[in-house]
Amino acid sequence: MAAADRFDTRSYATIFVRAHGRASIDTVEAMWLNKNEQIGGRHVFSVHRSALAENTTMAGKQVGRVRTLARDMGAKEAKIIDAKSVVTAAWVRFKCQFGCGGYGATLTCPPYSPTPEQTQATIDCFNKALLIHGDKHTRISKIAAALERELFLAGYYKAFAFGSGPCRLCRSCDVTKSCKNPSLARPSMEAAGIDVYQTARNNGFHIEVVTSYECEQNYFGLVLIE
Ligand code: SF4
Repeated sequence: MAAADRFDTRSYATIFVRAHGRASIDTVEAMWLNKNEQIGGRHVFSVHRSALAENTTMAGKQVGRVRTLARDMGAKEAKIIDAKSVVTAAWVRFKCQFGCGGYGATLTCPPYSPTPEQTQATIDCFNKALLIHGDKHTRISKIAAALERELFLAGYYKAFAFGSGPCRLCRSCDVTKSCKNPSLARPSMEAAGIDVYQTARNNGFHIEVVTSYECEQNYFGLVLIE
C-alpha cells in the first residue's frame, strides 16, 4: 500500500474511533482495509461517513472537533482562528522567487500557485480557519489535505487547505502536465502569499527566524472552513 493511502486510512480510522468511542485505531484500520468488513450490516466506510456527518449536524457547527482530529493525526497543536487574522503580503512571493531553490519546481509553488491577491480574495470568502502547528517531523501538508477532505464530507463544502513547504508527493514534478495527485496536492501557505510569521503570531504561536540547525523549527498549515 502506498504511504499516502496508509496515511488516509489511519486518519479515517482515527476519526471513526473519535466518532464512536470504541475499538482501537489499529482495529478499525484493519477492518477498513478488509473490504468485506461490516458493522451492523453496513460497510465500515459508510458507517464512518454517517457517524461523522451525524455528529457534525447534531451538535451544530462542531468545527472545534477538527482540532482534536489534527492532533490525532500528529499536529502539535491546532487552533480555530478568525480568517481575518490570516495575513497575505506581496513580498512573500518574492521570497519564493528570489532565494528558494524550489521556485517553479512543483505545481504547488510559484509561479503556479495562487498569487497573494488571489489568496486574499479567497480568504475573504471565509469566516473561520484551522491553523495547524507542527515541527520538522509533522506531516503538515498531509494533515491539512486530509482535514480539508473530512470537513468537505461533513458539509463544509468550501473547505480548502494550505500545506507547508514544496509538494513532495511525487519523486519529481512535471510542471508541463496536470498534477498526478489533485486531491492531496495543495499550495503551502507561503507559496500562496500568506505571511506565515505574522499569521502565527496573530494567533498566539511563537515563531522566530531560524538561524541555525539547533534552533526550534515551527511549521504551519491552514484549512479555511465554511
Ligand atoms: S502531487 Fe506530484 S504532480 Fe502534483 S504538485 Fe505534487 S509533485 Fe507535482
